[in-house]
Amino acid sequence: MSEVEGNEARKDFIRDRVQADLAAGNYPGVVTRFPPEPNGYLHLGHAKSICLNFGIALENGGVCNLRFDDTNPVKEDTEYVDSITEDVKWLIDGWADGVLAEKTFFASDYFEQLYGYAVQLVKAGKAYVCELTPEEWENYRGVPEQPGKESPGRNRSPEENLDLFERMRSGEFADGEKTLRAKIDMASPNLHMRDPVIYRIRHEEHHHAGDQWCIYPMYDFTHCLSDSIEGISHSICTLEFEVHRPLYDWVLDNLPVPQPRPHQHEFSRLNPTFMVMSKRKLLQLVEDKHVNGWDDPRMPTIAGYRRRGFTASAIRNFCQGVGVTKYKAVTDVGLLENAIREELNKTAERRCAVLDPLEVIIENYPEGESEEVDAVNNPEDETAGKRKVPFGRRLFIERGDFMEDPPKKFFRLGPGREVRLRYAYFITCQSVEKDAEGNITRLICTYDPETRGGHAPDGRKVKGTIHWVSADHAVDAEVRLYDRLFTEPEPDAAGDFLECLNPDSLNVVTGKLEPSLGELPIGQRVQFERLGYFTPDAKGSTTDKPVFNRIVGLRDSWAKIAKK
Ligand code: ATP
Ligand code: MG
Repeated sequence: MSEVEGNEARKDFIRDRVQADLAAGNYPGVVTRFPPEPNGYLHLGHAKSICLNFGIALENGGVCNLRFDDTNPVKEDTEYVDSITEDVKWLIDGWADGVLAEKTFFASDYFEQLYGYAVQLVKAGKAYVCELTPEEWENYRGVPEQPGKESPGRNRSPEENLDLFERMRSGEFADGEKTLRAKIDMASPNLHMRDPVIYRIRHEEHHHAGDQWCIYPMYDFTHCLSDSIEGISHSICTLEFEVHRPLYDWVLDNLPVPQPRPHQHEFSRLNPTFMVMSKRKLLQLVEDKHVNGWDDPRMPTIAGYRRRGFTASAIRNFCQGVGVTKYKAVTDVGLLENAIREELNKTAERRCAVLDPLEVIIENYPEGESEEVDAVNNPEDETAGKRKVPFGRRLFIERGDFMEDPPKKFFRLGPGREVRLRYAYFITCQSVEKDAEGNITRLICTYDPETRGGHAPDGRKVKGTIHWVSADHAVDAEVRLYDRLFTEPEPDAAGDFLECLNPDSLNVVTGKLEPSLGELPIGQRVQFERLGYFTPDAKGSTTDKPVFNRIVGLRDSWAKIAKK
């Protein structure tokens, strides 16, 4: 078995089935596929499907195909083909890139072959051309409890059907005028088996197939045959396709496809709290400008997470941790936030930044002078070493680290109180300056030169340690603080998901950053001490200022709110 992420080999009912199939010799090897429709960007749910399909191929020395399920020319676009390709590669890079088939597959490349299969069904009397309008078709199909009504076209001869089907292809009829339907069972309790439509007329150009076609095969006819054409062994999809499985099987069992043929297996969709997971809804957020595009760092899209600074491994660990089941459940999004937090705690270097600056003057520090103090890059990783950070007479601290009239338990700065400036000195607040409205504008402090490095030679202790940056060396940066996009754990549950959009999902501030952050390369992630994990925005600055995204805070602030 190839190496898998995490320590233990993964087990679930689909993997059990794969093992059983291999043990029984049902397939010569494992071939899976990830089959997105290119009608939107990939989201976290797709990541789960990618982890499952690529994971199973990886664990069994198999292959996984990226196949675009592109049978609907109206909603699909090459922009989506490109973004999906990029996102899949990013997500599996360094993990399962070895099992990705070299070629990218498109269901639309099989249109000619699929047409040939459809002709075979027609000739065998197993498909017919139908003239019912969509409304009539629905009426005829009926309800599960009672048999449906036969279409007038159902008993036409194969020769007549073939002639009509060929004329459908040649463009003789208008959209909706005719369909090709599989002749199965108008009394089946499963409505999908009541002579489903397998071809429809659409005079539309296709993003991949061009203008060759004006008839397009339906999903249920295309998917199983595409799986068969590619030699897929295990066709893994989400539970809503369970009721389609008899049709998947019917098509493959009524055509002379190669054996062994693929089989479909379903698992429940990932449904994280505080998110919507449907491309249609995500598209609405983009089109109605509730967010700034598909890769807005607040979006639950892979592109959004990447831009926000999430790592592929944290997303994969989250997906793998959620597991694969057949029951519907919601997954706490806090698990994803924990996954990235845990990883970055180990890997991200620490830096100092002040996001709500309050000026501090160290009145006994010589004017015009400065020095450098040593700061630890990562207490979790000794090899990360130390760096020099400038210190001087004028500093910034967080406004929230000072209280004029502090309660007992407030261990930070207050008038007459002494605290440690991390890596530097003890300081004591001597006085407070205010503007005409009474807002605090500056603190006048003194420092103890004996406490360099943060320790007093006389052994005296301070209760609080706060972070700071040297005002004369600080770099200004735009810092984007993201919060959850929705205020409700299940935005879909209460009706219109747009009604629970979080008005405070984006808060932009100007931060004061230690100078080393001015040139942090894109893709690098750091911890701003005491504040969270941050990364430069890839679509960065239109101004001179660097732009930083908050990836995640240091702790789950929502858990606290929920407990109150
Ligand atoms: P959406 O409803 O968001 O548009 P979809 O199912 O139509 O999603 P596809 O592009 O057809 O999206 O999906 C590609 C693959 O990803 C399918 O196999 C699908 O089952 C799987 N998938 C989609 N959403 C999820 C999810 N939330 N959890 C797990 N797998 C998913
Ligand atoms: Mg779909």
